[in-house]
Amino acid sequence: MKSTRNKQYINGVWVDAADKQQLPLINPATEEVIASISLGNDKDAVLAIDAAHAAFKTWSKTTPYYRAEILKKAADYLRQNLDAIAHEMVLESGKPLLEARGEWTVAANLLEWYAEEGKRAYGKVIPTNRVDKRSSVIWQPMGVIGVITAWNFPAYNPARAWAAALAAGCTVVAKPSENTPLSAYHLVDALINGGMPSGVLNLLIAEAAPVGDAMLNDPRLKKISFTGSTRVGKILMDGASRTNTKLSLELGGNAPVIIFDDVDVDAIAKAASIARFRNNGQVCIAPQRFYVHKNIYDQFANLVSKYVSQLKVGNGFEDGVNVGPLITSKQRDSVFELLEKTKAENAEILTGGHRPEGMDKGYFMQPAVVTNLDQTSSLAKNEIFGPVLPLFAFDDLSDALAKANDTEYGLAAYAFTNHLKTAIQVSEGLEFGIVGINEWAPHGTELPFGGWKQSGQGHESGSEGLFEYMEKKLISIGGL
Ligand code: ADP
Repeated sequence: MKSTRNKQYINGVWVDAADKQQLPLINPATEEVIASISLGNDKDAVLAIDAAHAAFKTWSKTTPYYRAEILKKAADYLRQNLDAIAHEMVLESGKPLLEARGEWTVAANLLEWYAEEGKRAYGKVIPTNRVDKRSSVIWQPMGVIGVITAWNFPAYNPARAWAAALAAGCTVVAKPSENTPLSAYHLVDALINGGMPSGVLNLLIAEAAPVGDAMLNDPRLKKISFTGSTRVGKILMDGASRTNTKLSLELGGNAPVIIFDDVDVDAIAKAASIARFRNNGQVCIAPQRFYVHKNIYDQFANLVSKYVSQLKVGNGFEDGVNVGPLITSKQRDSVFELLEKTKAENAEILTGGHRPEGMDKGYFMQPAVVTNLDQTSSLAKNEIFGPVLPLFAFDDLSDALAKANDTEYGLAAYAFTNHLKTAIQVSEGLEFGIVGINEWAPHGTELPFGGWKQSGQGHESGSEGLFEYMEKKLISIGGL
């Protein structure tokens, strides 16, 4: 199955963009144009908000049981069409097929999980200080939600927010990344297939800033759920004051990984070489700054370099490929520039950091391991979003915590130790919204996902993710 939509989906109809603009879609592994995409702008956004606003009147009055049936059918559709939709995700994103299949499976799980969780938006009855009064709190769907998402997880990012908002009884105007529209078409197809009524979910593949502005300017749109860079998150925060648009922000990260000297160094080095390069490092919770205890630093550096040099780089369709291309030439250039800057700061590249031999097409980079760094290095300060594993040394727990927390970001952090006391102290001392102890995947459909500091606001997934799209209402009845 190939998506042939290539359009905007507004008020239940696939339509061309108002200004009839087109955008070529490029396969990052081959640099070939794979589709011509209808590219909308603020005019399309206003039409989508009109439709979502009208549909909210009826959708918000449906029961969560009714909404759940639609979401569950959509999940089934994704599972039944997994091969075809994963294929298209590889084409547009470059990620290895196995990762694409895994991501679509999680997207289906999110739809199903929120289908059920929507039934559990429980309020509460609060005992009052007067006999003639009763007070209770209920939750109601917020209204029209704008969902702006990034390209790094073309199915997971939108599925997470759409599923929660729709289950809560909200209607959605979605603007996924223009780099990965094919996956978004398939997600819309799934929900249409599930029986989603017209206007409840609207899709814009469109110019980013004008759509963001149209959302922020329109008081009918109550909230923007955004997954993307801290830079754009700040633009949205500035604009949100215009009509008091509420925001859920999943922004950048710069995750530390603290490796104490009591671990199996070989096993952690091997696992790190996979975890760091999942989706080519283009992950907001990607393990990034590797702080290794000074006693095992050299051993870890040698082992991790060995394993990283064995990773297979290539087109995501090839068997055994671990690392695909970066998403765009711009993204690849920015990672190369960061490496050049680091070299000028006296960093030493232990492996990789160049274009792979004989691969002159595609936005590839040989995965790199870098040493001779400190807290002032560019690789410590910047979110890399690419295939580079920087190594730093630490002396003891307090040194590790001071260095790990020395960042404006606060999304995810990781630590590896077999000592219970160290595990508890490090997990409580890290200033991050997500901490993985002895694991690389501290996330899940049922778990709250959100950042501290400049990594965001609010939470997605888990029951917290549902309430992000609901308003709390106090009902106080007097004179009884
Ligand atoms: P990235 O650089 O990783 O794509 P961005 O934060 O630029 O991250 O993009 C994430 C999402 O935000 C994409 O859908 C993109 O089109 C959108 N976007 C970019 N600029 C703006 C903006 N000014 N207003 C609203 N959305 C934007």
